[in-house]
Amino acid sequence: MLDLIENTLGILTRITNSKAILLLKMNDVEVSILSFLGDNPENYTQFNSSLFLLYKNSGTDINNTLIENLPECKTVMKEIGARSCFIKNVHFVSEQNESVFLLIFMSGVNSIPDIENDAFKSVIKVLANQIKENFYPEEGIVPPFPERRAEEKIVINNWEDNFNKLLTIVNDLIFILDKDGCFLKVNNFGAMMLDYDEPEMIGKHFLDFVEPDKKIEVSMAFSKMLLSERVTKIKTTLISKLNKKIPVEIAGRTITKDDKIVGMLGMAKDLTKLDKYEDELKKLKPKLIEAHRLISLERSRVWQHNSLIEELDRLKNEFVSNISHEFRTPLASIIGFSETIVSDPDLPEEMKEEFNNVILNEGKRLAKLINDILDLSKIQIGKLTLNKTNFDLVAMLNEVVESNEQFASEKKLTLDFEHPKKEILLYADKEKLGQATDALINNAIKFTNEDGRVKVIVNNLSKEIEIIISDTGIGIPEKDLPYIFQKFYRVSRPGTEIPGTGIGLVFVKQIVDLHKGLISVQSESGNGTTFMVRLLKNIGIKNS
Ligand code: ADP
Repeated sequence: MLDLIENTLGILTRITNSKAILLLKMNDVEVSILSFLGDNPENYTQFNSSLFLLYKNSGTDINNTLIENLPECKTVMKEIGARSCFIKNVHFVSEQNESVFLLIFMSGVNSIPDIENDAFKSVIKVLANQIKENFYPEEGIVPPFPERRAEEKIVINNWEDNFNKLLTIVNDLIFILDKDGCFLKVNNFGAMMLDYDEPEMIGKHFLDFVEPDKKIEVSMAFSKMLLSERVTKIKTTLISKLNKKIPVEIAGRTITKDDKIVGMLGMAKDLTKLDKYEDELKKLKPKLIEAHRLISLERSRVWQHNSLIEELDRLKNEFVSNISHEFRTPLASIIGFSETIVSDPDLPEEMKEEFNNVILNEGKRLAKLINDILDLSKIQIGKLTLNKTNFDLVAMLNEVVESNEQFASEKKLTLDFEHPKKEILLYADKEKLGQATDALINNAIKFTNEDGRVKVIVNNLSKEIEIIISDTGIGIPEKDLPYIFQKFYRVSRPGTEIPGTGIGLVFVKQIVDLHKGLISVQSESGNGTTFMVRLLKNIGIKNS
C-alpha cells in the first residue's frame, strides 16, 4: 500500500494540474517548509523520502479538510502565484515532533515559487496561522498528547482508508484499472463527472465509457502504455451516463508488482472548459492580429509624421537661409545702382536708363518674392480664397506668356504659346490662375539652359481644359518628383544651385486644388519637364 501511495502522490503531481505540492511542518512555535515538489524530478524524489520518513516515524492522520474558504486564503494563494484556490490540507500528526504536517496542493501556479525566498516563507506563515486559528483555536496546533495518541493508533495502519481520502482531493477523474482494463477504483469527483455513482463504475471496462469511434484509438494507446514504464497521455472523448460527450485528456501508467503488470493508474482531466477557452481564444486571435496590425500601422504613421516634422524643420531652416539670400541679392543691386546714379551726375543717359531698368527688374523680383511669401502665409492659415469672374483663359495666358518674354530672351530661350483660335471662357479666379501659370512658366525658363525651348499649350477638351507648360531644361530627378509640391522643398543640385525658395509649386498646387483641378508633372533628369494642369469645364463656367 505504501508503494501505491508513493506512486499516487508522484503521479498526482505530474498528471493533475497541481504544479506544486508543499509539505509543511507546523507547531505552536514555528512553521517550516519540509519539502517541496515542483516540476523537477529531483524534488519529487526528495519529497517522497520526506514523506516516507514522516509515515515511518510518526502516526499519520490524513485529513483532507478544505482550507480554501479561510478568510485570507485566497489572497495568500494569489501572493504565492496560485491562480485558483484549489488547496486542501492533508494533516499529519507527528507524535515525536508534536507538530502538524500539511500537504498543500497548489493548482494553476504560473511558476514554481522560490521556497527559499523570505517573502514566500512569510506568506506561508500567514497561511499556516489561518489554519491554526481556524482549526486549532483553543488547544493550539497539537491536541493533548494522550488522546491524540489513541486516535492516531487507529488511523496509522489504515492506509487504504487514507488513500481513499487522498483520492477525493482532486477534481478530475482518478482511477485504478485491473490488468484487464476494468475499474477497480474510481474517485467520487471522477464518477460525478460522468454522472455515475462510484459503485456503478466498478467492474465495468474502461472502454465502455469511451465514445464508440474512439475506442480503437484508446485501446491502442493503452496497449502502448503497457509496454512502457512512463506516463502516457492521450486525448479522447468519454460518454457520460446522461449521454454527454466529455472531451478529456487521459494520463496513465501501469502498476507493477514483482515485475508483473497488475493494473493501471490514471487520471482523466475534463477539457470541456479548456476547449471552450481555446475556441474563444481562436475567435479572439484574428482580433488580436487586427489590433496588432492597427498598432503597427499607427506606429508607422506616427513615425512618418515625426520624420515629416523633422524634414519640415530642416526645410524651414533651409528656406530661411535661402530667402535671406533671395532678398539680399536684388536689394544689393537696387542700392548699388541707385547710389551710382545719385553719386555720378555725369553718368551718360543710356547708362542711367540701363541702371534704372536693372533697378526696376530687381524691384519686381523683390515684389514677387514678397507676394509669394504672403501667399504662403495665407496658404498656411487656410485663408487663400478664390475671387471668381468670367474671363477668357487664352487672353489671360497670353498676357502671362508676354510678361515672361523678357526673362526668356535674357536666357536666349524660345518661348512659344500654342492655343485654339477661339476664346476659352472660364469662370475662375483670373488673378490666382495667372499667378500659378506665371510661376510654372517662370520655373520652366529658370530651369532651362541657354538655347532651350519653353512651350505653353492650352487645349480645349470636351470636359476639361488642359494647360501644358513644357521645357527642354535640366529636368527633375525621379527621386525628387514626389516631393516637389511640398513646402520649402528644393531639388538639391550641388555645384549648379539655382536660387529659389521652394514655395512656388506649393502655391500653384493650392490654387489648382481650390479650383478642384489636377496638376501633374513628368520629368527626367537632363531631359526637360512638363507640368500639366487640368481644370473641369463645368465647374468653371457660371450660368448667367
Ligand atoms: P523654387 O523657388 O525653388 O523654384 P518651386 O516650388 O517653384 O521652388 O520648385 C520646387 C523645386 O522643383 C525647385 O527647386 C526645382 O528644383 C524644381 N522645379 C520646378 N520646376 C522645374 C522645372 N521646370 N524644371 C526643373 N526643375 C523644376
